[in-house]
Amino acid sequence: MLWFRHDLRLDDNPALLAAHQTGGPIIPVYIHAPEEESPWEPGAASRWWLHWSLNALDESLRARGNRLWILRGPSLDALRRLAGETGAGTIQWNRRYDPATRDRDTSIKQTLRAEGLRGESHNAALLFEPWDILNNSHQPYRVFSAFWRACMRARPVAQPIPAPATIPSLPAHITPSATLALDALELLPRRDWDQGLRATWSIGETAALAQARTFIAERLADYGTARDRPDQPGSSRLSPYLHFGEISPRRLLSLIIEAFGDPTTSAAAPYVRELGWREFGYHLLYHYPRTPSEPLDGRFAAFPWATDGADVALRAWQRGQTGIPLVDAGMRELWHTGWMHNRTRMVVASLLTKNLLIPWQDGARWFWDTLVDADLASNTLGWQWTAGCGADAAPYFRVFNPVLQGQRFDPDGGYVRRWCPELARLPDKYLHQPWTAPQAILTASGVRLGSDYPRPIVDLATSRVRALAAWEQVK
Ligand SMILES: Cc1cc2nc3c(=O)[nH]c(=O)nc-3n(C[C@H](O)[C@H](O)[C@H](O)COP(=O)(O)OP(=O)(O)OC[C@H]3O[C@@H](n4cnc5c(N)ncnc54)[C@H](O)[C@@H]3O)c2cc1C
Repeated sequence: MLWFRHDLRLDDNPALLAAHQTGGPIIPVYIHAPEEESPWEPGAASRWWLHWSLNALDESLRARGNRLWILRGPSLDALRRLAGETGAGTIQWNRRYDPATRDRDTSIKQTLRAEGLRGESHNAALLFEPWDILNNSHQPYRVFSAFWRACMRARPVAQPIPAPATIPSLPAHITPSATLALDALELLPRRDWDQGLRATWSIGETAALAQARTFIAERLADYGTARDRPDQPGSSRLSPYLHFGEISPRRLLSLIIEAFGDPTTSAAAPYVRELGWREFGYHLLYHYPRTPSEPLDGRFAAFPWATDGADVALRAWQRGQTGIPLVDAGMRELWHTGWMHNRTRMVVASLLTKNLLIPWQDGARWFWDTLVDADLASNTLGWQWTAGCGADAAPYFRVFNPVLQGQRFDPDGGYVRRWCPELARLPDKYLHQPWTAPQAILTASGVRLGSDYPRPIVDLATSRVRALAAWEQVK
């Protein structure tokens, strides 16, 4: 049996390879058991992606003479039942690293073993296993640069394995019971809010590979400079594919090496380093499993977050109605496409946790529900980093100024004009701070502050001072 989870591909899939090597029929299965991921069950955007990803995986399997069986959890019961009905003796899967799934998998492996079945797990998601990279005192790393240097010393990364040409299936007379059609999982929204997502993404491993190849051929060489510009397609947008395992990091790295040579010294180095941040997030999540809800820096447990008006401010932030254009553009991009540029992720997270003094956990939860790349390791890392309470974090006193960030990284205003069209006619000078525009200019640009577009919900200068005072209390 081949138990698919966050490895929804046939290329470079070690569990598939192990199953294939037995020479017998392979039973590919996906088990729907979101409650086993509690409290981090997939959010709405992730469920949407998962539906199409499973659909694409089934098509790939069918093209190789097999198909995907879909079952409902509990996972252990479903695996046992399927093994009993098909006579399978071994279950192959690729590892996940979030605390709930790890605990579940360990217990499943033990129970299967006690019942005479074998469960074997493999690494499909990471270049480096979190337990293989430790410092001289055999402790996990908490500083990225040291972590990444240790990874680079630990090279080489294993070569990716191509998908087998055929995947032998069960004989036709054996049909597992209680299998479901994909639609029965009800992963797609009942209300039609997903047009923007549909228009933005092609899902599945063929699309992932095509996107990686195009990025490497056309944009990787300029990534170092273009990556910070939310108004340009400078980054790879591979994060949801990596999260769901539609492309393996090993495959991605090997394509980069084919095109650029040494990934640490060539023009590809800045991009490969970002893949390193992804590895670092998994390293931290594995070694500090409480960090999705608790700050790694214990001083922040007593941080004086705002209480007055926080709900109203949180809602304005979620809806892209803060009156601060770069922030609103980012939040609307997120709502519309399920993705947000990394620069704007940092800016919106800084505004929430510093200017508005709203706990980073509230922001992380919103991202969890709305991002198609919502990933417990990277999301926790990103929020704790920006809030200043994580490993190797931006210091708390570094408060991003969204006006200056906008002027620097969206200098022509293309990003803000796209997502906040009500401001499109404002001159560049005022686009990132419409509240400073003279009335005559607002009128000429068709903007009535407070009705067409909100006035800022917070004063950036005084709220920065308030945030620094809060920091003084815990530091
Ligand atoms: C507050 C906050 C929350 C975030 N939440 C997530 C999340 O839930 N899921 C997620 O995948 N990323 C998250 N990130 C990291 C980063 O913003 C995204 O990985 C990146 O924007 C994805 O776009 P891309 O694929 O074009 O990235 P590229 O710039 O093309 O980078 C290539 C890949 O490297 C990895 N990567 C890049 N930057 C980071 C980073 N800072 N941390 C970890 N991995 C990184 C991603 O897998 C990405 O696909 C978050 C960042 C912040 C500041």
